Amino acid sequence: MTMPDHATCYAAIAVRDPAADGRFFVCVRTSGIYCRPVCPARTSFAKNVTFVATAAEAVAAGYRACKRCRPDAAPGSAAWAGTAASVRRALALIDAGGLDATKVDALGDRLGLGERQVRRLFGKHLGAPPVAVAQARRLAAANVLIDEDRLPMSEVALASGFGSVRRFNELYRAVHGEAPATRRARVSKGYSMHLTLSRYAAPEAELLVVTEGDTLRALDFADFDERMRTLLARRYGVVTLTEGPLPPSIAAALDAYFNGDLTALDTVPVATGGSDFQRAVWAALRAIPVGTTTGYGALAASLGKPGAARAVGLASGANPIGIVVPCHRVIGANGKLTGYAGGVGRKAWLLKHEGALQGR
Ligand SMILES: [Zn+2]
Repeated sequence: MTMPDHATCYAAIAVRDPAADGRFFVCVRTSGIYCRPVCPARTSFAKNVTFVATAAEAVAAGYRACKRCRPDAAPGSAAWAGTAASVRRALALIDAGGLDATKVDALGDRLGLGERQVRRLFGKHLGAPPVAVAQARRLAAANVLIDEDRLPMSEVALASGFGSVRRFNELYRAVHGEAPATRRARVSKGYSMHLTLSRYAAPEAELLVVTEGDTLRALDFADFDERMRTLLARRYGVVTLTEGPLPPSIAAALDAYFNGDLTALDTVPVATGGSDFQRAVWAALRAIPVGTTTGYGALAASLGKPGAARAVGLASGANPIGIVVPCHRVIGANGKLTGYAGGVGRKAWLLKHEGALQGR
């Protein structure tokens, strides 16, 4: 299936064209929500939306399902039509538990396809590997049960295809950045996510540090306040930031780092939300030793995805926790510092502080 281009998709959503329903989904960058083309909500500006072929792709990119048009609520419906027949059959099998306990090759057997073919098909049509798609569909199914039912969490986990409550909780937390029970409490009371915003005077700039307990949720330069709030909203929905003191453990780690103990930030706990791929990239960034630099190509190769340098670059640019998740340690293949979300000057300062620019 090929996607219509951006202008065609946008024209369709502007008139809520029913013929477009199921052909693609709308990702709204500013809200982090994805919708069906027929969503009754006000249409966002063209520059703020992107279009993807499937709900699974939207979920894999970190978007949450719209509460009004429920793009996640009807797997197997017209919303899933339009992909190749094999993909449809594969998704039906996955929804029936086809990947809950078995491997991709077993799924392939039932489709009359080899494992490699199944993986290629998913990559092409859904933009994500089978296991990630299965995971996204299970999590989407779980969200519907969490929000609308009074089912105990153990039953939510089983009904949405997870083998154990523990696995469900772990994965849910990793992807959504909060526990399923927290979401239920929040949604049922109309609560937003409550985080603490603190300010830290670093040598070259004031930093905004967003925490929940002793865990870092976001870190950015104070002049990018707006961008940080947008990023948080995109990841967590409605977020209430209350100004407060920095947790002592994080203050101590930042003090130590800026005073020359360069590995002091390595063990600070972080919670990032984001898709599997983004979290893998952010983990890889934290594994770059202080005092060294690398390139996007090398980083992609270290993730077992040589050739994905551009995707790694995008994920790196979406890093919500500056400095602690050290995206500043990635430089151009030609040795040029290249861009940095906080400005190239600050990137140079950080690398110099870490001793990575010696002899340059
Ligand atoms: Zn919608």
